[in-house]
Amino acid sequence: MRCPFCKHDNDRVIDTRAMENGFLIRRRRSCGSCRRRFTTYERLEEFDIRVIKRDLSRQPFEPEKIRRGIERACWKRPVSSEQIELLVQEIETELYVDGETEIECQAIGELVLKRLYSVDEVAYVRFASVYRDFANVEDFFRVIESIRD
Ligand SMILES: [Zn+2]
Repeated sequence: MRCPFCKHDNDRVIDTRAMENGFLIRRRRSCGSCRRRFTTYERLEEFDIRVIKRDLSRQPFEPEKIRRGIERACWKRPVSSEQIELLVQEIETELYVDGETEIECQAIGELVLKRLYSVDEVAYVRFASVYRDFANVEDFFRVIESIRD
């Protein structure tokens, strides 16, 4: 990206955030030549990430599904709807920033888990039980032990 001040193309992104539900991406940049900072906005013309299911079929990525999954895991837990909203938005941003066009549903599950862990441990275990497809109680113990470590 050309610096609007010195016109050199030598910038570094220092902050990226999604706005308008992820359809607008704002980047703070720092020019490596004159050191001044500037902001760029990217509008997504088309939101075309597809999710690869376990049976290898593809479906459009729907943030709403992630939200529902997290809400279920947070049932009766002290997690606000704002926190859930923020989680969903962070995950969306991560996908946009990575520029993925296809992602496995398990990988999305792992992105959720990575963040849910610091929000609420019970919600984390509930979410893991669904996404990792726990077969028996041993699987629960394994995840609980990994939290304790
Ligand atoms: Zn510059």
